[in-house]
Amino acid sequence: MSTFQELGLNDDLLHAITDLGFEKPSEVQEKAIPILLNSETDLVALAQTGTGKTAAFGFPMLAKIDVNSRTTQGLILSPTRELCLQITNEMKQYGKYCKGLNVVAIYGGSSITDQAREVKRGAQIIVATPGRMKDMISRRLVDISKIQYSVLDEADEMLNMGFKEDITDILSHTPEDKNTWLFSATMPREVARIAKKFMDNPQEITVGNKNESTSNVTHEYYLVNSRDRYQALKRLADANPDIFSVVFCRTKRDTQKVAENLIEDGYSAGALHGDLSQNQRDLVMQSFRKNQIQMLVATDVAARGIDVDDITHVINYQLPDEIETYTHRSGRTGRAGKNGISMVIVSKSEVRKIKSIERIIKREFEKKEVPDGMEICEVQLMSLANKIHNTEVNHEIDKYLTSINEMFEETSKEELIKKFFSVEFTRFYNYYQKSKNLNVAEGSRDREGGREGGRDFGGNSNSTRYFINVGEKDGFDWMKLKDFLKDQLQLGRDDVFKVEVKESFSFFNTENETKDKVLAFFTDFKHEGRFVNVEVSENRGGGRRNDRRGGGGRRDDKRGGGRRSDDRKGGSGSRSDRRRSNEGGGSSRRSDSDSGGGKFAGARRSRR
Ligand code: ADP
Ligand code: MG
Repeated sequence: MSTFQELGLNDDLLHAITDLGFEKPSEVQEKAIPILLNSETDLVALAQTGTGKTAAFGFPMLAKIDVNSRTTQGLILSPTRELCLQITNEMKQYGKYCKGLNVVAIYGGSSITDQAREVKRGAQIIVATPGRMKDMISRRLVDISKIQYSVLDEADEMLNMGFKEDITDILSHTPEDKNTWLFSATMPREVARIAKKFMDNPQEITVGNKNESTSNVTHEYYLVNSRDRYQALKRLADANPDIFSVVFCRTKRDTQKVAENLIEDGYSAGALHGDLSQNQRDLVMQSFRKNQIQMLVATDVAARGIDVDDITHVINYQLPDEIETYTHRSGRTGRAGKNGISMVIVSKSEVRKIKSIERIIKREFEKKEVPDGMEICEVQLMSLANKIHNTEVNHEIDKYLTSINEMFEETSKEELIKKFFSVEFTRFYNYYQKSKNLNVAEGSRDREGGREGGRDFGGNSNSTRYFINVGEKDGFDWMKLKDFLKDQLQLGRDDVFKVEVKESFSFFNTENETKDKVLAFFTDFKHEGRFVNVEVSENRGGGRRNDRRGGGGRRDDKRGGGRRSDDRKGGSGSRSDRRRSNEGGGSSRRSDSDSGGGKFAGARRSRR
């Protein structure tokens, strides 16, 4: 490991580096700086975000330009205004002892004449976003015909954002013999093409593993029972009212199902997978780009190349089969200099995969708890309060206010605030007050798995075990019976579990919340001409034969004590009908206890 001094930087720069507190060069700096200082060459450098790329091109550029000339000699293109300002700021700090240096930022959304004036004063280095740069060139407000060094920073992002033509156009105004330095986190084909087109035999450096994850993405996992996946997903969404996310599922079917369920539960969600027509996919992507969809549920294949910035969360509803796929998924967030969170909903049987992913992406996951109902109520309430606080008054409302004001003449501000927020809070509260804890302790035994395993259903379990009078002789095995029950009861993939098929009868479990529904459904149900009878079993899933029907198999009717799925129906209904319009046709009679969550999730449809 060398020092900055050994890399050949001059005293002015070394002095600034000391001030900045950089002790030693980062890897990309160590590799790039000597090359750029000591030769006139084009360069392609691949390194992840946060590895110090700015200084890797910034120091050499500062060392090489002539501060005594007022000619623009260096041009740095970067994808966003934020990055542009960030780079400008860094360059000014790096060059603070370079007397006469003038670094100017050019970006949209700010006065073009002010920027032109600054350039005119003599900018040796211009840091620009492509759009504004092109604009300034066409208005002849900048002259880049004498630049010697051009940098394409975050080249992959610039291409993702559709700046290819602008870049081509801009570079056509620069001298042939300049040097081009391209910095990028990844090397998609587009970037390679750009490199080929604009660069002359570039030297190449790569830092780190190409699968390594970017540093501005944090990785979290949530350990739940497999059948609680969907509830966990909704809680995560509810706990992040401004979420703008891609939810990854493994199969097209799950993708469609999860999206349908979310829509039905009132979330602004959409599905993206290969069974949709191109037109349908375009429409979904359009809505997503416009932020009209907060949760895009997608397969890996369909989501390839999603170039949407600002994605706040990637949610791995299921882990991918290939660990590398995880890198691609999580790379959908934390783009263009923003921070992102990649969440994994993981069951006990997959939790070891987290360790393998950590090894490959070289980042640690944080184990987090699925938020409980009251936390979510609080988050939602504060989010609402914030929204109200920041709302601009629409004066169309004025004409209606007289009668409303009259109504509240006697109400104090405190009182009014209380009442106003109670409208929302009661809804959240009613829905969530009885919600269960979805978290599974890491050391606990795995309670899932379809067939045998269930010896750990203690009396304190949240699930109910049933006896059903069909079995192998009716053509069922555990998978077929599980599918049959799921279809008949219109339950989700993980809602029927511990299915155990015997010759002429079987057992299965559902959540306690589903008990009434299951029992009601099978009170008068015929399958292939025969009455199918379902009763609550005393068998806890341990498979001891004699406990199957107790004395005569009375249905132990403790319904009053069980947690009932319709607890939530209370005051939470009003919103759902408004959202029917975007319903994906899912008509399932859902029973899971969390399904009311969307009732208020829908209230936060618009993100900005
Ligand atoms: P990248 O462009 O690769 O994403 P940046 O150039 O923005 O990374 O650098 C990331 C952060 O690291 C910045 O805050 C920068 O000041 C700091 N930094 C850069 N080089 C060094 C170094 N050699 N030692 C310590 N900090 C550094
Ligand atoms: Mg950078």
